[in-house]
Amino acid sequence: MNKGKKLYEGKAKILYETKEKGLAIQHFKDDATAFNNQKKANVEGKGVLNNRISEHILQNLNQAGIKTHLVKRLNMREQLVKLVEIIPIEVIIRNIATGSLTKRLGIADGTILDKPLLEYSYKNDELGDPLVAKEHILAFNWATIDELSKIEETTFRINDFMSGMFRGVGIKLVDFKLEFGRLWENDKKEVILADEISPDTCRLWDVKSERKLDKDRFRKDLGNIIQAYQEVARRLGIMPETTNISEVNFKKPTSISIKKK
Ligand code: UDP
Repeated sequence: MNKGKKLYEGKAKILYETKEKGLAIQHFKDDATAFNNQKKANVEGKGVLNNRISEHILQNLNQAGIKTHLVKRLNMREQLVKLVEIIPIEVIIRNIATGSLTKRLGIADGTILDKPLLEYSYKNDELGDPLVAKEHILAFNWATIDELSKIEETTFRINDFMSGMFRGVGIKLVDFKLEFGRLWENDKKEVILADEISPDTCRLWDVKSERKLDKDRFRKDLGNIIQAYQEVARRLGIMPETTNISEVNFKKPTSISIKKK
């Protein structure tokens, strides 16, 4: 599958056009960013691992009847995906309180939530992806009420599915972020899961030690980022193809730069 022109470049991925109508190539970069782009680094091998982990999770979701944009993985860094119109909302679901929730509301870090908590933020880098209510989403037509019901129902299903999957390999699924898109087929619209699910977009804690196996290692300068992502891949029973393992050369991140506002 040949790559066409670049359609969009985000912080961790690039989307390319293909000759096939309705299909695009999603390329996973090694770039890591945090705190609304203020902290940046190149973490060698991260893109390869996220490509593989996200493929595994989305493939499993597809098999469980949850529609996603994933068609197939093409190579170490790329996957073929259905081209969707991204809904400009980040859907966050939490099982354990940590991160921005604890800071915002003064909830003790690690509090187990009675039931999963769903939050929305408006996808807008300039504004720093602010938390919004369902009412804002409807008031500004970012999504319709029917789309939101579908998004909520799907998000809870994904949370149940992934919590079980990770629990089975000794990992607590603390929280994660999802993005959805509109897929148009012959005038019919469907809302499906898009983007990625990886240690960049989830918080994953080892069940016994509570060791962080996700992007918090980068956010909090805990080190061994790649080793943690590799551990997730290993536990899920997936590792990058051994032929090119040198590409995942588990080095420390290079060129960390922290910009001051
Ligand atoms: N998250 C994400 N992208 C974002 C914001 C959050 O993937 O732009 C994920 C994050 O990795 C975590 C969950 O969503 O798994 C909840 O993040 P939180 O709101 O606590 O944000 P943070 O503490 O990172 O600001």
